[in-house]
Amino acid sequence: MSDQLNTLSQSSLQDYHDCPRRFELRYLQHLAYPAIETEPALENEKHQQEGEYFHRLVQQHLIGIPAEQVGKLANTPNLQRWWENYLSAKDLMGLRDQSKLYAETTLSAPLGKFRLVAKYDLIAVSGDRVVIYDWKTYRKRPKSDWLNVRWQTRVYRALLVQAGAHLNGGKSFAPEQIEMIYWFADFPNDPARFAYKADQFKRDWDALTKISDEIKTASDFPKTDDTSKCNYCPYRSYCNRGIRAGDAADAELETEAEELFDINFEQIGEIAF
Ligand code: SF4
Repeated sequence: MSDQLNTLSQSSLQDYHDCPRRFELRYLQHLAYPAIETEPALENEKHQQEGEYFHRLVQQHLIGIPAEQVGKLANTPNLQRWWENYLSAKDLMGLRDQSKLYAETTLSAPLGKFRLVAKYDLIAVSGDRVVIYDWKTYRKRPKSDWLNVRWQTRVYRALLVQAGAHLNGGKSFAPEQIEMIYWFADFPNDPARFAYKADQFKRDWDALTKISDEIKTASDFPKTDDTSKCNYCPYRSYCNRGIRAGDAADAELETEAEELFDINFEQIGEIAF
């Protein structure tokens, strides 16, 4: 494997899990997307940009800017709807009063020969409870079973145990203190909630260690046998796996990538190598 790759994230791990070849093309060869990922391409791109912008609006609100002021920036139908849904979500509105909030926070910890990095939309500490929030602007509400096995759900909770002590007065969070909530801007009353336990943490960290070792020593990154993964993959043309783009609403569930380039490495707290 290339020695240039020093970090792993939930996105790169998910890519490796879904298709080692995609991992290789994206993270080792750094290939720009050669194909339109989904149809209709422009509408999908706009939806993605609006989703990113929505994250910024929520962040601004959480750091204390008044809702009326932030709401003026919600200037498209999607953004207006999402923003109104956010404001009417009672659980979320209580956050600013009750919790210590860490919005857009990056944590990292050593993982084998790598550093595992994750950027959190929000970590809210209230008493002895800590909740990880992740905002999703999906057009479909994914099944909770599907989310439960995603690397994001596993990595975010495990990494908070491993590298979140500075958010808890210097003491590591116990897994049982942690909950992860996916809040869907278009399905505001149907969040997906995931508690955590010590045996799950052990299972997750063992699995992360194993997969990081596997990636480090891999000499071959085969194409997935599951050709349904190719429907939404930007590298289809490299693999002779078709040129027709998949449906955008399905694709956003399968190919969501939170690129490491978005992470400001100066923000990375806690454990260094
Ligand atoms: S097109 Fe299919 S085989 Fe090729 S990288 Fe994408 S998912 Fe893997």
